[in-house]
Amino acid sequence: MTVRTRFAPSPTGYLHIGGVRTALFNWLFSRQHGGQFILRIDDTDQQRNVQEALQPILDGFRWLGIDWDEGPDVGGPCGPYFQSLRGDRYRAAVAQLLESGLAYRDFARPDETQAEREAAEREKRPFRYSRRWMAEDDQQAAKFQAEGRSAVVRLKMPTEGQCRFHDLIRGDVEFEWAAEQDHVIQRADGTCLYHLASVVDDHDFGITHVIRAVEHLSNTPRQWFIAEALGWKSPQFAHLPYVAEPGSSNKLSKRKLAQYLKNADFRKLFEHGERIAQRVGRAVSPETFNPVIVDFYREVGYLPDALVNYLLLLGWSLDDRSEQFTRDEMIRAFSLERVNRAPASFDPQKLAAFQDRYMRLVPVEEKVVSTLPYLQQAALVPDPLPDGVRAQLAAIIEAAGDRIKVAGDILEFADFFTPDDGLTYDEAAWQKRVVKPAEAGGLLSRFQVRLAQSEDFTAAAIEQLMQQFVQDESIGIGQIIHALRVAVTGKSVGFGMFETLAILGRERCLNRIAIALQKLSSST
Ligand code: GLU
Repeated sequence: MTVRTRFAPSPTGYLHIGGVRTALFNWLFSRQHGGQFILRIDDTDQQRNVQEALQPILDGFRWLGIDWDEGPDVGGPCGPYFQSLRGDRYRAAVAQLLESGLAYRDFARPDETQAEREAAEREKRPFRYSRRWMAEDDQQAAKFQAEGRSAVVRLKMPTEGQCRFHDLIRGDVEFEWAAEQDHVIQRADGTCLYHLASVVDDHDFGITHVIRAVEHLSNTPRQWFIAEALGWKSPQFAHLPYVAEPGSSNKLSKRKLAQYLKNADFRKLFEHGERIAQRVGRAVSPETFNPVIVDFYREVGYLPDALVNYLLLLGWSLDDRSEQFTRDEMIRAFSLERVNRAPASFDPQKLAAFQDRYMRLVPVEEKVVSTLPYLQQAALVPDPLPDGVRAQLAAIIEAAGDRIKVAGDILEFADFFTPDDGLTYDEAAWQKRVVKPAEAGGLLSRFQVRLAQSEDFTAAAIEQLMQQFVQDESIGIGQIIHALRVAVTGKSVGFGMFETLAILGRERCLNRIAIALQKLSSST
């Protein structure tokens, strides 16, 4: 048997990270067994433009390196992979169910079913349709039609006994048939409903394992019934716990951003991204810019490997120790048996730790490539790139070390790329470090002279120059270094001062000190 799994998103316009986790487990399982992973698009109820609403989902998976063997863009032998294009198959299945008497045409008017529902409510018993307008043959149907009625098709579900199946995560599961409904599978206009479509597709695509979120567990009895009624063997089921909100067991939802922002870790994650997005002029509407959605991470410059590794551990573990897995290691180690039954909470701090860990392993040249687009989007470097920008960027990245946690963090160092006369000064730092200490102006201007005369402009040479200067002036290094940093970068924080000066180069340092001195003299 070849293992075939599938992920079946509706084209919603965004990729939820809980969805990625489900897709990842499907992908790992199929890869481990040398099988296929299929992407199926559940667009039976789609109002809007499917391609547009699907694109972010496909882009998200591509960015994460989760590839599909069959589905949109790649095709495959079982296509089409869009439910909206498979109506004929579904109608054929409905015809077969009608033929075998396991489904029936129901001519009840909506108000009649509603009245039955309300009666059940009044009598405090579970609603179950009376089948009063059920037509089991053409004669009956013709009678109802003559009354001007039209029919939906309902499943003729068992009324007693249990539906039992083995779930690969939840073990033996049992549902009472009595608690089910005669579910509608086809509307009066001939279109078919999702549950029928899903079963037909899983069968037609040869799906062997349905690995999906636990919210679909209660749909399984009716799907199991449909498969059985069509003479098919149901695939094996594995219902995953959902990804929960930070610090709770409620399902993580993109609509609850405002609530999640009350969680300090979540807010930190969001605000970090928001800062980057704002600097590149990206609109930060919660609809699209939201840590519950994969695009957030892509746009801010996270590493797909870090996100995938984090999501792997949301509900699965190999043992108490192993945390870091390459794709190959995950594929080898994954097992459905080790998936937890309890929901796992989204933990922004843990995600950040994975990102840090993976970011440290990325070579500088790769970081140059990943950070450059942020500088370009923020219009800090011109296109085409002037000579030397790449080398300068590499030097900044090298000096910044793990201060660059995501690619967009390069914008923290935007001051390297602004023209000298366009530098903005942090007002508090300017006052505290340059204006207030009486000696700052004199020290800066004397150090400026030394910088102009130095033979060499490497970080090491500047450091030596500084030591000499401090000695000659009989001052502590703190008296000059803070003022110098603010004068040259506009800020009071940054990486090593000597590296900063070396990267800027002699001319720009002298220029920036001159501008600062002028600003100082005009303000006093
Ligand atoms: N389209 C369904 C969803 O997005 C898929 C359900 C299933 O995997 O069977 O939840």
